[in-house]
Amino acid sequence: MSRRSEVLREMGLAPVWRLRTRKEAPAEVGDWIPLKSAVANCRACALHEGRTQTVFGVGDENADWMLIGEAPGAEEDRLGDPFVGQAGKLLDNMLAAIGLNRRENVYIANVLKCRPPGNRNPEPEEVAKCSPFLIRQIGLIQPKLIVAMGRFAAQTLLATDASIASLRGRVHQYQGVPLIVTYHPAYLLRNLPDKAKAWEDLVFARKTMRTL
Ligand code: SF4
Repeated sequence: MSRRSEVLREMGLAPVWRLRTRKEAPAEVGDWIPLKSAVANCRACALHEGRTQTVFGVGDENADWMLIGEAPGAEEDRLGDPFVGQAGKLLDNMLAAIGLNRRENVYIANVLKCRPPGNRNPEPEEVAKCSPFLIRQIGLIQPKLIVAMGRFAAQTLLATDASIASLRGRVHQYQGVPLIVTYHPAYLLRNLPDKAKAWEDLVFARKTMRTL
C-alpha cells in the first residue's frame, strides 16, 4: 500500500480517493459532507492544538479554476475562510484583473487546513498529514486548471523541491490536470517587484484556460 493510501486509511478517508476524469459526473453535496466533517474534526497533526477553527476552502465546488495556497494566517483562522487578510485583498485584485472573482467558477483552498503558529512555514510532517484533504478536494472539484500559489502548494502537488522561479512560465500536470505555478500573494506583499511576474503568470493562466 502506498504511503498516501496509508495516510488516508489512518484518517478514515479510505477507500483511496482518486481523481475523476472530466467525463464523470460532478460531485454531489453528499460527497462533500464526510470530507468537510473529517477536516473539521481532524487532529492528525499538532496544528489542531493552536487553531481557532479549520479553514476548509471556499468557492464554487464545480469551478474550472482552482487556486491553492499554503496555510491559514491569523485572520483566516479567526474567520474560517482562506485569503481574507491583506494577501486575500491582493488575490481578489489579481483575480479581478483577469476577469474572475472568488464566488464564480473559482475555488480557493490551502495545503494546510490549520494555522501554523506565528505563520511559520509548514513542516513536512504536517503537509504529509494534511495534503490528502486537498487531494480529495481536487478530485471532487475536477478543475480544468490549477494555479499553485507559492512554494508549498507547488512543491506538494508536483512532488519536487524546485524553486518557484524555475517552475513558473510553463504548464505542469497534476494527475492529468494542467497546473501553473506562481508566487503566493503574501510573498508578493513583501516583494513588490515580483508582482509583475505574478501578473504575467495570471495572464499565462488565462491564456492556457482558453485552450482547455
Ligand atoms: Fe488535520 Fe490538517 Fe489541521 Fe493537521 S493541519 S490537524 S492534518 S486539518
